[in-house]
Amino acid sequence: MRAAGDSTRGVADLVLRGGVVRTMTEQDPATAIALRGGRIAAIGTDREVLALAGPATGTIELAGRAVLPGINDAHLHATWLGALWPRTLFGSGSGDPRNPLRTNEQRRAAILRAGDLLASLGITSYTEPGLGPGEDAGPTGAFGSPVVAQYRELAAEGLLKARVTVLSLYGELDGRSSLPDVLAGLESDRASADPRWLRFAGIKIFADGIPPMRSACTKCGYADGSSAGLLVDGIDDADREHNLTRMIVAAHRAGLQVGVHATGDRSIEVVLNAVELAGVGHGADLGHYIIHGDMASSEQLRRMAELGVGLDVQPGIALCTGEQVDAVLGAGAAAESWRLGEALEFGVRMCVTSDAPVLSPDWRRQIAAADEWLGPAEDPRQRTAQLLRCCTVEPARQDGAASWKGVLAPGMAADLCVLAADPLAVAPAELPDVEVDLTVVDGRIVHDRTGIG
Ligand SMILES: [Zn+2]
Repeated sequence: MRAAGDSTRGVADLVLRGGVVRTMTEQDPATAIALRGGRIAAIGTDREVLALAGPATGTIELAGRAVLPGINDAHLHATWLGALWPRTLFGSGSGDPRNPLRTNEQRRAAILRAGDLLASLGITSYTEPGLGPGEDAGPTGAFGSPVVAQYRELAAEGLLKARVTVLSLYGELDGRSSLPDVLAGLESDRASADPRWLRFAGIKIFADGIPPMRSACTKCGYADGSSAGLLVDGIDDADREHNLTRMIVAAHRAGLQVGVHATGDRSIEVVLNAVELAGVGHGADLGHYIIHGDMASSEQLRRMAELGVGLDVQPGIALCTGEQVDAVLGAGAAAESWRLGEALEFGVRMCVTSDAPVLSPDWRRQIAAADEWLGPAEDPRQRTAQLLRCCTVEPARQDGAASWKGVLAPGMAADLCVLAADPLAVAPAELPDVEVDLTVVDGRIVHDRTGIG
């Protein structure tokens, strides 16, 4: 049995036994897990773990269910999702996609609604990638500073059902930003009463748009002869590149994480150059990452692996927009984009994310989409394991939290996703049919589909 150092002195709050515990570590799967005080107290056989049970300990019979680390969606617009759901941008559902949130009550309700939805999916952590003054006048009301205020209130009241990482936004969503605004924003207050629940990690920058809209900043132009530059303000291309570089370097030197929306191979190049420059003489690993990265080339993916730059991908977007990408960039362009297999092979820190409400927040569908995009696997089990890492281990690293969440081990956060069946026993395409039966955050049950808790 593996137990936390002080485990012999305490009785477990909750024991889950009789299942398959997928720790996402090198350790073999165990059958039982004990939780205490919001942390994992022990993992082992039923017999070993039940030794920590006392009269007040709750016991859950897993009956063959699988326990995973809580799922972490590294790129998910929860407030906007809460306003729109069940509508998604690429899915069905009617109504205005902006559905503006006008009041603080509406924003609070949207965050809470998303919290319930995400808990039902086993999601225990997520990143809100871009909240701040840049969107105070935005059309949705789901990204401005008042949303940050609501998160602070809900965290203080203990009402969040998932741990939240926030990237601050000092420009417009999918739009322009200016160097002075970003530099001023770096000085903002990022304190949090409890960073394990709400953490202000750094900044979000939009480098460019997206290929289907011909707004991705690419090395080659589009089939119709058009081309697109960076979204960052500047008098010409060189000035825009310089300003984006300065934003990234300045944030790094301020000790902040940078997540850059970059889809074109040219914008990706600028970001990688900037991260490399920022790291010279200031080697701290702040977990900078590229969001989407559609057109990242093989060479760029190798550089990302070397530099430790992460990649947040949405395989469902590749499936939905591949044809449009071929139409605007030329036949075969989609197949050259979203090189997820190479990213995995080269060891890029890749997170599989939903970008909800662009796609459904259901991570099981994202894993199935990744599998479909990658094509037939030699070893489906190994692929599922690899993709599950992209929803647990890698996002924890992106959060700068690998020391306390993302895997199941004694002392780690008691954040669990309990599935009706072992995900490694089904093909990735079948994963969406495996129910999420129980979700535990910080040792607290926040979703119990079948009443086992
Ligand atoms: Zn997004």
